[in-house]
Amino acid sequence: ARWVYAFGGGGADGDASMKNLLGGKGANLAEMSALGLPVPPGFTITTEACVHYYANGKQYPAELAEQVKTGLAKIEEITGKTFGDVANPLLVSVRSGARASMPGMMDTVLNLGLNDETVEGLAKLSGDRRFAYDSYRRFIQMYSNVVLNLEHHMFEEILDDHKDRLDVHVDTGLTADDWAAVIKDYKAAVRDQLGKPFPQDAQEQLWGAVGAVFASWMNDRAKFYRRMHDIPESWGTAVNVQSMVFGNMGDTSATGVAFTRNPSNGDNRLYGEFLINAQGEDVVAGIRTPQSLTKAAREEMGDTAPSMEEAMPEVFAQFKSVVETLERHYRDMQDIEFTVEQGKLYMLQTRNGKRTAKAALKVAVDMAAEGVISKEEAVGRVEPASLDQLLHPTIDPTAHRDVIAVGLPASPGAATGKIVFDSDAAEKAAAAGEAVILVREETSPEDIHGMHAARGIITARGGMTSHAAVVARGMGRACVSGAGDVAIFEKEGLFRVRGREFKAGEIITIDGSTGEILAGAPKMIEPELTGDFATLMGWADQVRRLKVRANAETPLDAKTARQFGAEGIGLCRTEHMFFDDTRIAAVREMILADDEKGRRAALAKIAPFQKADFVELFTIMEGLPVTIRLLDPPLHEFLPHTEEDVEAVAAATGLDAAKLLRRAKELHETNPMLGHRGCRLGVSYPEIYEMQVRAILEAACEIAKSGKAAPVPEIMHPLVAKGEEMKYLRDLTDRVAKAVLEEQGVDLKYTVGTMIELPRAALRAGDLAANAEFFSFGTNDLTQTTFGISRDDAGKFLNAYIDKGIFEKDPFVSLDQDGVGDLIRIAADRGRAARPDVKLGICGEHGGDPASIAFCETVGLDYVSCSPYRVPIARLAAAQAAL
Ligand code: PEP
Ligand code: MG
Repeated sequence: ARWVYAFGGGGADGDASMKNLLGGKGANLAEMSALGLPVPPGFTITTEACVHYYANGKQYPAELAEQVKTGLAKIEEITGKTFGDVANPLLVSVRSGARASMPGMMDTVLNLGLNDETVEGLAKLSGDRRFAYDSYRRFIQMYSNVVLNLEHHMFEEILDDHKDRLDVHVDTGLTADDWAAVIKDYKAAVRDQLGKPFPQDAQEQLWGAVGAVFASWMNDRAKFYRRMHDIPESWGTAVNVQSMVFGNMGDTSATGVAFTRNPSNGDNRLYGEFLINAQGEDVVAGIRTPQSLTKAAREEMGDTAPSMEEAMPEVFAQFKSVVETLERHYRDMQDIEFTVEQGKLYMLQTRNGKRTAKAALKVAVDMAAEGVISKEEAVGRVEPASLDQLLHPTIDPTAHRDVIAVGLPASPGAATGKIVFDSDAAEKAAAAGEAVILVREETSPEDIHGMHAARGIITARGGMTSHAAVVARGMGRACVSGAGDVAIFEKEGLFRVRGREFKAGEIITIDGSTGEILAGAPKMIEPELTGDFATLMGWADQVRRLKVRANAETPLDAKTARQFGAEGIGLCRTEHMFFDDTRIAAVREMILADDEKGRRAALAKIAPFQKADFVELFTIMEGLPVTIRLLDPPLHEFLPHTEEDVEAVAAATGLDAAKLLRRAKELHETNPMLGHRGCRLGVSYPEIYEMQVRAILEAACEIAKSGKAAPVPEIMHPLVAKGEEMKYLRDLTDRVAKAVLEEQGVDLKYTVGTMIELPRAALRAGDLAANAEFFSFGTNDLTQTTFGISRDDAGKFLNAYIDKGIFEKDPFVSLDQDGVGDLIRIAADRGRAARPDVKLGICGEHGGDPASIAFCETVGLDYVSCSPYRVPIARLAAAQAAL
């Protein structure tokens, strides 16, 4: 098998299409070589070699040694130097390079091949002893750290001792002899630590470095990064071995990084920096201040040090043309590393540049306008999830960040406000026009009003799918959940975190995109929904087939959803309408009623509110489809539970405290999610659903009569499992609807459908379709019931599953396409077989997840429905799924 691919000398074995095999860096080095650009020669050890290494108890493939030897010989031939040769030594860099770029996550060794003898050869060749010794000490330090696992600071202390002794303050103040003395101490320290000398043999060094790069694939940083970015461990990393070029060979040498366009705002101008007489890590390390590339940039920054354009005009002209070639060739903004060695330019890396969402939009729209890419390609260029950055306020990246704790990035956006510890206080403060951050141990449905009133939410406990996280995302509120370091003392009105104390009323800021909690109020940047954003979304809408709706119940959510381009409401959860202060009393009265008569009396009090809600919703939606789901949660959720709460409710409403407590106990269920909820409520208390159906139709008639665009209500029954259940619900719905339409004398279309939230419903979708005109996949519950994993408790153990690779992603965030997905496919097929025009949608959290949306496209659903703030993401993801 072939494990090694060479590049350089005007040709290459590989090309840019071979990223899976050669990694991003290796594939692009090959491509640049083949384009005839100046690339130092080298070779790439494939990702397959890495995979083989881990699959075989950390053994290299048998043929690898021979192929590496051939690769080295080729470099030697092109450069005219010899690896390990004393007179004319070839030095190489050894770098990792995975399929997806993982910046800074894995290891690199430079100047490899230096030892006590070759360093003299390098000194003679370069005519610069100081340079040679400086390179050698850098190599010892880097190799010792990366390969021999010795700490950096040990070397830094040695260097500092020498500087103190010599009374110099900058590295450039050390002479060749000074560096020789430092090297002597470095080597002694290595021998001291390891009980054996620093390796002098170039081959031993090379294999040590290759092993270290493979090992770095499994270090904690890399694992964490992969988990954050959904990069599978099974990909492995490639290793690039490349002839060294030196940016630190005097004032005609330099090294730098460049972007072909500005990666923060997308401006079409060369952007970057460089350092004269330096090696790559000096640019990143921040020891010296890098200089601008162009004269214009220098003047803008008010820098005094000359730009590359001014300091080395000829090399710059060549560089500029290479950079333009690369952008044209790759048809995307490039992120480039280069070195100038004694006036000669070398390209060390190119890749599609990482960029902010704002820059991604601008670059895509500009490139389409420039005719470089098509509109469809532009649509494909923007990461849907990144739009989140644009839809919420963000902390100005130049602002000072006083981070006091970090939790989970549960709901994006940044928010500043005064600390409050309970939902009523949040509501009161918000009503008085104050911005507040609600800080809770965790939240429950009773906190909805407080969460709505707050600008942002912090919870000390709970995961990414905790109540707080899901509700906050739905509302577009910033949220940091599971901030375990935050110790809340609600009674004292303060929280403590890492030795600091914050009282109610103090100003804090949260960044829900990073999970950071900050003291004070750093400067913010407001979202902007016009310009490039609007242009690209327009192109996306032309491409997509899937309709995009929103999950919304409040007028504010509905308006937000429309602003973001929702084409209807896919899920109006009516229970949220029951929690409102004025209604909850009547809801509790209904729950406490001893018989149907009592329940009907209480329901009659709720009915006008429900109707008014629907009138408002239909008015905002102006004839667009609105799916209204009848009551779903178990009734105990509406009752107070602790004795304290019961007392408070009793006092406020005049309801009997003892009765409240008794009823709460009666309604207690061991397993409420599998209990008396969903349409089971409608079957046992049909009067509840009758009231709701009546309210929906009366509202629709009122709109129709007023001459406004008549809505087409879609009445949806939750948690249906059986055809007979559906038939019962259908009959109930039609009976009430018919009565209302007759009373009102209005001819109005409505439809009746069901959620698919149970495996049985999916399997028997044909039975349900007999009486359901639409299905909406409630994938939150369907995931819960398919896996038998509680969506409320999964956070406690799912991480272990993800760590162990049993789950690649949280199935409550991104659809389990094999299992839950199979049920969806089956339900769609069987539903369509029974009723060819059955309308199919999805309204679980997955409706806003790009990977899940791509799945919905393959199944041919009619629409996805997601929280209002995810609507643009879903529009773009749906377009990309259709491309
Ligand atoms: C679902 O289960 O996917 C759903 C949308 O309903 P809820 O989240 O309200 O249970
Ligand atoms: Mg559900």
